[in-house]
Amino acid sequence: MKNEKWKFETKVIHVGGEPDPTTGAIMPPIYQTSTYVQSSPGEHKGYEYTRSHNPTRTRLEECLASLENAQHCLVTASGLSASTLIMHMLPKGSRILCGDDVYGGTYRLFSKVFPDIHQFKFVETTNLANLEKEMESFKPALVWLETPTNPLLKISDIQAISALAKKVKALTVVDNTFMSPFFQNPLDLGADLVIHSMTKFINGHSDVVGGALMMNAQELRDKLFYLQNAIGPAQSPFDSWLVLRGIKTLAIRMKAHEQNAMKVAAYLESHPKVERVIYPGLKSHPQYELGKKQMKGSGGMITFFLKGGISESRRFLENVKLFALAESLGGVESLVDHPAIMTHASIPKEVREGLGIFDNLIRLSVGIEDIDDLLQDLDIGFAKV
Ligand SMILES: *Cc1c(COP(=O)(O)O)cnc(C)c1O
Repeated sequence: MKNEKWKFETKVIHVGGEPDPTTGAIMPPIYQTSTYVQSSPGEHKGYEYTRSHNPTRTRLEECLASLENAQHCLVTASGLSASTLIMHMLPKGSRILCGDDVYGGTYRLFSKVFPDIHQFKFVETTNLANLEKEMESFKPALVWLETPTNPLLKISDIQAISALAKKVKALTVVDNTFMSPFFQNPLDLGADLVIHSMTKFINGHSDVVGGALMMNAQELRDKLFYLQNAIGPAQSPFDSWLVLRGIKTLAIRMKAHEQNAMKVAAYLESHPKVERVIYPGLKSHPQYELGKKQMKGSGGMITFFLKGGISESRRFLENVKLFALAESLGGVESLVDHPAIMTHASIPKEVREGLGIFDNLIRLSVGIEDIDDLLQDLDIGFAKV
């Protein structure tokens, strides 16, 4: 069931969420099967083996494609396995120009796993003139953007960069995990491929690991589907079902994340123990105007620098309670992360500090709890610093 005029709030519940045609069950069944019966060799109903296709996963792919205004979607077992498929799609020896402040696991994949196969260059992507020069000299086959970045929340101009990439015949990939399809749609801005870690906002309940790829070009879809089947990182039917369940509230969750994050960011910005706050919704954000132009909201992630160093950070992190100290982000519950020790530890210290990820940098994933309780929790943390 699909209606092009439906708004996001309707699509997220109904596309791929149709009642089961055989029983009328309002909720889709979990097709917990590895294989499917054939009436004659090669004659089947479109499903042969769950590594290739599964009806529960198909529903999720239909829903996600509609949310990103994409023709196609492929759902994978994790965000990083989706990234891996993109790397395997490129001919050996391809050049990849990648943003310099990407998710730690993406950095590890590109700098440790794939350098024998491809050539990578990490560059600052907020300076367009500089990026254009890099594209002309490096001649990449693919430009990899994360916007906003993790953890510095730098915003890159998807429309301008996709146009520059087209001129040098490079594909543009955007990791849209932080905004989710609710706040940003990179394909509409000219990107060729969107990647999500569904583990984060899309599923939103911190109980599944998953990834998704969205694209319009049939050729890209076919190449990536071939690799997904040949390599094998398809998501399990149960996990796809959990994401189908979690995604239904994506629209209201994203609004609630943003509302709370706006208030937490304002609180932090006026706090005497805070050196600096980075949040796309604050006028003080270096790319505030660009963010307003390409994003429909500012999301639930906040980065701030505490006055002090590692010991002050530790005291803060050990004393907040509602903000659970944990890796990951995007769940209904608030989380706090110390990138230098936790999520970004795989990036060498000199590189990390060169980017601005210092020991007093703290990242918040603001959940959808009551805002007064969240602010009080932060008060307790600061009181111990
Ligand atoms: C978590 C994350 C990933 C990796 O996804 P997994 O599901 O953990 O494999 C990629 N990009 C960003 C921005 C992330 O936050």
